[in-house]
Amino acid sequence: RTGVRCQYVTTAINVRNLRKVYPGQPPVVALADASIQIRDNEFFTLLGPSGCGKTTLLRLIAGFENPTSGSLEMHGQSLIELPPYKRPINTVFQSYALFPHLTVAQNISFGLEMLGKPKAEIAATVDEMMALVKMTEMADRQTSQISGGQQQRVALARALAPKPKVLLLDEPLSALDFKLRKDMQLELKRLQTETGITFIFVTHDQEEALTMSDRIAVMSAGTIRQIGGPRDIYDHPAERFVADFIGDTNFLKADVVSVAGQTAMVRLASGQTIAARTPEGADVAGSVTLAIRPEHAGIEAGSGGLLSGTLGEVVYFGTDTHYHVALPDGTAFVVRQQNRPDRADDLATGDMVSISFAPDVGQVLRD
Ligand code: ATP
Repeated sequence: RTGVRCQYVTTAINVRNLRKVYPGQPPVVALADASIQIRDNEFFTLLGPSGCGKTTLLRLIAGFENPTSGSLEMHGQSLIELPPYKRPINTVFQSYALFPHLTVAQNISFGLEMLGKPKAEIAATVDEMMALVKMTEMADRQTSQISGGQQQRVALARALAPKPKVLLLDEPLSALDFKLRKDMQLELKRLQTETGITFIFVTHDQEEALTMSDRIAVMSAGTIRQIGGPRDIYDHPAERFVADFIGDTNFLKADVVSVAGQTAMVRLASGQTIAARTPEGADVAGSVTLAIRPEHAGIEAGSGGLLSGTLGEVVYFGTDTHYHVALPDGTAFVVRQQNRPDRADDLATGDMVSISFAPDVGQVLRD
């Protein structure tokens, strides 16, 4: 799918079978043989629920932790023996970790001074970084006297100032309120594009991951479940965990009738047969689960569609309405329809309804 572009893509960080076990009774397997190739210039996100090992993977890449086993390379060179400060990698922490009694400019220059850069170069870089994060006018303000969003910008500028090849960001937006967070998501994406630095971003917020990333690795319990672009992950989740964690999904039991390439013909409980996508490299046969996004299904009165059932709750959300349907076997199925002022909502709780969806929107899940 990446076609011709592929030959120009180089791997920045190559994580192979990386394992981290924290000692204890019992020991904690925080990362279980994870493998990922993160490309140069990409905005790569590690997404997963609390405790799945995102921060551990980030700390291993930064060098704050040593792996139990596996390999970790940057542009073909092993990172494992290198202490954190010798890695061309920098980190932005959730807490920002700014010096409150120093000014914005001093916070940004601090790291460069520690690296022993010439004064003129430091001054030029600080100016460049303040312009990049739009903080030039606040240069002489102490960081204890600026807002949370502004502190976030300074933390970013400070981390970008030494021009690392890779920037690690551990939930950097979680302390910001909703509106600021939305603005900073776009801002971070802009910074990444403008600097061309590879960003590895950690979040448990699926919407944030979908909005900002070039690619996402979905993690669960120390393992990588699926890697792909936002659309790929959303439209074609390979397994139940991914389908469930990202967005809302309906799950339907179905029987595989035949498979050709990435398409399977599956029979639904209603007796109708429909084409569905299969996950790459998975053998699908027999009884399977099909995932269908609520907004990919349509609903109307009657009983002629692929599925029919009884309409339960109808929930109005402004932009759309959610219809909760009970199928004859007891399965719940939600249909989400965009609201339009010119379309009357003529369905009511208790109605017999029929559900339909296009042939290719169903995704067969891996066991
Ligand atoms: P969160 O989103 O809550 O930050 P996470 O996905 O980043 O979670 P990690 O912080 O990597 O998860 O933790 C993975 C697992 O390892 C968890 O079970 C955690 O309790 C455990 N763990 C993390 N750090 C240590 C440590 N220093 N010693 C022992 N166990 C640890």
